[in-house]
Amino acid sequence: MNYHISERAASLAPSLTLAISAKAKQLKAAGQDVIGFGAGEPDFDTPQHIKDAAIKALNDGFTKYTAASGIPELKDAIVEKFQRDNGLDYKPSQIVVSCGGKHSCYNIMMAICNSGDEVIIPAPYWLSYPEMVKLAGGIPVILDTTDVTQFKVTPEQLRDAITDRTRLFILNTPSNPTGSVYTPEEIKALGDVCVEKGVMILSDEIYEQLIYGDAVHKSVASFSAEHQAHTIITHGLAKAWSMTGWRLGFLAAPEPIAKAISALQSHSTSNPTSFAQVGGVEALRGSQDHLKEWLPEFDRRRRYAHERLEAMPGISCVNAEGAFYLFPNISGTGMKSTEFCDKLLEQSQVAAVPGIAFGSDDYIRISYATGMSQIEKGMERMDAFARSLQS
Ligand code: GLU
Repeated sequence: MNYHISERAASLAPSLTLAISAKAKQLKAAGQDVIGFGAGEPDFDTPQHIKDAAIKALNDGFTKYTAASGIPELKDAIVEKFQRDNGLDYKPSQIVVSCGGKHSCYNIMMAICNSGDEVIIPAPYWLSYPEMVKLAGGIPVILDTTDVTQFKVTPEQLRDAITDRTRLFILNTPSNPTGSVYTPEEIKALGDVCVEKGVMILSDEIYEQLIYGDAVHKSVASFSAEHQAHTIITHGLAKAWSMTGWRLGFLAAPEPIAKAISALQSHSTSNPTSFAQVGGVEALRGSQDHLKEWLPEFDRRRRYAHERLEAMPGISCVNAEGAFYLFPNISGTGMKSTEFCDKLLEQSQVAAVPGIAFGSDDYIRISYATGMSQIEKGMERMDAFARSLQS
């Protein structure tokens, strides 16, 4: 039988980040000694006090529908988070809680794009942004960057790309896949262009807490009321609280946009899982002490992996300042990213994500959200692999 698949769905390949993490897990479960650098998922467990809050909610019978855009208590906790961490004032009516940061981004594209509208996306980009834009009928406009500029787009590049069809500019700092963190000055300059041109910014800040060294995070919304009025912030609990499987993301937007997104969500997923939301309240309001352990550990892994990568023949790597990714340049090996990653997995049992998935074929993504002994072993194997290519 020839099943009818919509053009929309037929044009999509499954998310490669998810596929590679799943493949590494599957190979490991089958007894193979695979080192997984694919997953954008912390290896730490969700802190116990967060689990306890959700377990209590479940046992108390908090198992029914909630308001589609999230429970008032969680929206209040999110409002407090923006006030506390970013100096930003939002009303609960400007907050929408969704089933993961990915869902928040998807909702934004659906709420903003008409057919033929343009969305400016700096590359390397998180692989789902362009697909979401296309699903919403929009046109992704890609701005290329390289490691020479630490993968940062300039205000001039942005200005030149804006047309009268531009609806949105996506800014993701700290960045997935590169780990780059824009400085406050750089962020302001990009925000200024958007304010001047009347373009909305989707500011994906899900890696906000995961920064190292001297890097600082500044939300583009926080420079002025005008900047805030031009910004939709997306965030989520997956990364800094290690709650990937809980599927809890949120956004803060100007009220008419939040209202449109709430309506969309009420016809698609309805509310995020009721008792997970109670865990979310605890994550935001409870102790943040887990980060005191996690951040130095991520930092240690980052420094180690960076040093090892830099020493590999044919590979160079700018040091990332945030998230838990490194994005080494592999062009010196003479291979493009898919061939490199395929061979690395086949010959050395190390899983990494080809840069082509993020729009940059001369690079690969290494996630160091895995234990130090795995990283040491994986880097050892990768080093031997890179050396074998030279002979
Ligand atoms: N955002 C993570 C990553 O890039 C999780 C997988 C995904 O949703 O893409 O690996």
